[in-house]
Amino acid sequence: MDFPNQPPPFEGFNLFDVDIALREAVTRDAAQWAVPQLRAWGETLGSPDTYALADAANRNVPVLRTYDRRGERLDEILFHPAWHALMRLAAEAGEHCAPWRTPQPGAHAARAAGYYLHAQVENGTQCPLTMTYASVPVLARHAPQGGADWMSRILANDYDSRVLPIAQKRAALIGMGMTERQGGSDVRANITRAEPDADGAWRISGHKWFFSAPQCDAHLVLAQTAAGLGCFLMPRVNPDGERNAIRINRLKDKLGNRSNASAEVEFDRALAWPVGPADRGIATILEMVQYTRLDCVIGSAGIIRAALASALHHARQRTTFGRRLAEHPLMANVLADLALESEAALLLAMLLARASEADAEPSLRAAARIVTPAAKYWVCKRAIAATAEAMEALGGNGYIEENPLPRLYREAPVNSIWEGSGNIVCLDVGRAIRRESDAVDALQVLIAGARGANGHYDRRAAMLDSTLRAAHADGSDGRRIAQAVAVTVAAAQLIRHAPPEVADAFCNSRLAEDAFAGAAFGTLPDTSRAARLLERALA
Ligand SMILES: Cc1cc2nc3c(=O)[nH]c(=O)nc-3n(C[C@H](O)[C@H](O)[C@H](O)COP(=O)(O)OP(=O)(O)OC[C@H]3O[C@@H](n4cnc5c(N)ncnc54)[C@H](O)[C@@H]3O)c2cc1C
Repeated sequence: MDFPNQPPPFEGFNLFDVDIALREAVTRDAAQWAVPQLRAWGETLGSPDTYALADAANRNVPVLRTYDRRGERLDEILFHPAWHALMRLAAEAGEHCAPWRTPQPGAHAARAAGYYLHAQVENGTQCPLTMTYASVPVLARHAPQGGADWMSRILANDYDSRVLPIAQKRAALIGMGMTERQGGSDVRANITRAEPDADGAWRISGHKWFFSAPQCDAHLVLAQTAAGLGCFLMPRVNPDGERNAIRINRLKDKLGNRSNASAEVEFDRALAWPVGPADRGIATILEMVQYTRLDCVIGSAGIIRAALASALHHARQRTTFGRRLAEHPLMANVLADLALESEAALLLAMLLARASEADAEPSLRAAARIVTPAAKYWVCKRAIAATAEAMEALGGNGYIEENPLPRLYREAPVNSIWEGSGNIVCLDVGRAIRRESDAVDALQVLIAGARGANGHYDRRAAMLDSTLRAAHADGSDGRRIAQAVAVTVAAAQLIRHAPPEVADAFCNSRLAEDAFAGAAFGTLPDTSRAARLLERALA
């Protein structure tokens, strides 16, 4: 029986087909070849079965099994079958490795599109997939020892959750361990120590306070050496089949990201192999962080998109005061505003994915050194606000755990915290501006190229140079600068690639000198084109 005025859940749609801006971006970014697989992925992800898996994986959180029945240490994580089913789907889609496994034009764009679709349905599973994807350039560059071919297992489009030495596995996943009790942002404060052992192996003793996906086959771990902070590949199981000396003390009880296991661990002379020079650990791991930050942007864009799609789907069917919700001018303002935020976030994510391509223009790569931390700051922050607003569009139902909004809302802040919390990435923006003049020049070129289409944009673009030059050396205005960069670049991308009504509505609401704009969604100064914006937002 159909209950009157209770819209069905947003399920059973092909998430790729209903997303006009994504389809355009994929074609534009040379990934037309990926359309059939993305369409299949959008169909799988949008099905009620996959939403049910996502729900089950988050309701039945992973459990730590410290000992086996005989009292032997196990340090294993028990996951609900839904977790494994989702991991298998994503690994077979190559989310952890595809651009490295098959380098080709548009490879990172295609992977970004797939990751963006996945982010709309379940986020915890994305943590090990991201860390594995980000580890590949580091492991390829430094080729650590380890008695087996790690790379062929990492590049397998397969999922193998068995606890075995790497030589016996079909596929492998990689995590990263940097954060300690006394410091996460300031990893130089790490106290965990590494000492050389025989045959190129090292032994690591100490702890990590956050160690996500401890079930991964290995982690890239930072530890102090006599020469300085080094980076090491620490296997979960040693080549001889013994479990490595990694004790899982407990799993974190987290606000969101609950399907994923995040552990506190101790190392008791755990085996590891150096990755890069013993004193270059931060530089080594920073290469990885560049890709994990990219995924924070793509993932947060996906969260915004999921929130928007749910809200719009609901508002098109729910009636209040004799009209569809979406037809009420003030609700249309809110939804159109969310749609602008969503498309802007997507275009920023796709721009950064393009900058990762093997054939990316050098100037785009240079600009990305500023735009990546700026977008990481801004898009992750906007996801927090957007999920709250979308929840409200569903009224009381939005607050109820039977629909995905509460989970998206709880998930949103974590992308802003890990891989460089808000202030840290804003300080990175400032450092890049002060030290890397080629990156600033490239950013200026990127922004100047979109001039001439919108007066507010042109005025902001002209001001950006002086805004960057006036950046305070102490970083105190870091958030203002990062926001200015992210919003202006997003506007440039919309001017280049979105219909004029989208780009104008974004510029007029985000770049005009209106002190109220942006404080909350639903404050667009002009909604005469809202219906057009909403048609585009969800086909
Ligand atoms: C769910 C979850 C999973 C995680 N998984 C992992 C993992 O797998 N591996 C891993 O290594 N870490 C992981 N982390 C840890 C995460 O990366 C850190 O929490 C994060 O880097 C911040 O470090 P911290 O917690 O020590 O906070 P702090 O470094 O103490 O920072 C606290 C706040 O102060 C701000 N701050 C710090 N320094 C400055 C400054 N100079 N100026 C202005 N503001 C500043 C920061 O931006 C932050 O907002 C995870 C965290 C969470 C929540």
